[in-house]
Amino acid sequence: MPSASSLASRLLRREILDLHAYHVPDCAGYIKLDAMENPYVLPVEVRSEIAEAVASAEINRYPDPSAASLKQAISNLLNLPEDMGVLLGNGSDELIQVLAMALNKPGATLLSVEPSFVMYRMIATFIGMRYVGVPLASDYTLDLPVTLEAIAREKPALIFLAYPNNPSGNLYPAEQVEQIIQAAEGLVVIDEAYYAFASDSFISRLALYPNLLVMRTFSKLGMAGLRLGFLAGSNAWLEQLEKLRLPYNVGVLPQRVAGILLQHHELLLRQAEQIKVDRAWLYHELSEIAAVRVYPSEANFLLFRVAQAAEIYAGLKQRGVLIKILTGAQLKDCLRVTVGTPEECAKFIAALHETLTQLSLG
Ligand code: PMP
Repeated sequence: MPSASSLASRLLRREILDLHAYHVPDCAGYIKLDAMENPYVLPVEVRSEIAEAVASAEINRYPDPSAASLKQAISNLLNLPEDMGVLLGNGSDELIQVLAMALNKPGATLLSVEPSFVMYRMIATFIGMRYVGVPLASDYTLDLPVTLEAIAREKPALIFLAYPNNPSGNLYPAEQVEQIIQAAEGLVVIDEAYYAFASDSFISRLALYPNLLVMRTFSKLGMAGLRLGFLAGSNAWLEQLEKLRLPYNVGVLPQRVAGILLQHHELLLRQAEQIKVDRAWLYHELSEIAAVRVYPSEANFLLFRVAQAAEIYAGLKQRGVLIKILTGAQLKDCLRVTVGTPEECAKFIAALHETLTQLSLG
């Protein structure tokens, strides 16, 4: 009888065998600045409100398959016109998958820039869609001529642009993004995962472009544990994409809890404002260190480059601070730190100074 592992290697698709699973390190006991989470817990009154709603939730029943009231709350928040709406996903990761599946005609291409959010490429691989990554310039700004050339050549059915970008944190000039939308014959999805920390958004431009959708997640705004993302745009697109959404992708509890949290949207936005203040402090501290090059960010994290990044990552970890080490030729020696509370940011900076001194880089 063949072993399970030899059977798996024989039966599974080559691309899947070649993939490395998305690695999430064990974070117990660390100051967790690796995953772009909001560091603040909710005030006790809001927690009680959630506790009550959870206690009375009918978890023996399937959720409302259309999540009508949550969708309405989000549409209202965005001030969407009548002919537009939202499609909900179990995190925005799921929506990337829905979009890729929907547009993957034989020979179709998904295009993004690199480095950017790794799931665009990974999901293309999962579903067997052709993927093209157009390199960003060395400072992670858009290389517009190269990008427009690639769009003309590859004629992608689907383009993802993270705005601001992950892992670099920068917000491309809106006019450049508009040129890309205008040049594209396919669908362009502006991924605004970090909208709460950014100075611009494409929501108000949705009506201008029939090939534009905006994707957002609530993960960075304090709801990472709920898994809730959405696509906003014309109902003509969303009605079709709804067909691919698994019927109960947003559970009873996320629907109820997110509904409550959106009534406290102001509170979450105030937390985001605090994070922006602390981002400025952290940026300043990092820019004062000669050995470090820090990149401008409109997200809730900062990318920085430093010699011996792997040793610095390890030194920080030893001192109880977990950040993210990046890989790939364009991200050589790059580390990404999420903006935490002021205390967490201060501990990170102190641990970084100690590590740099220990390595004789400080
Ligand atoms: N888009 C971007 C640009 C991201 O950085 C992330 C999370 N790191 C996501 C989408 C996915 O977020 P979620 O699945 O938590 O909604």
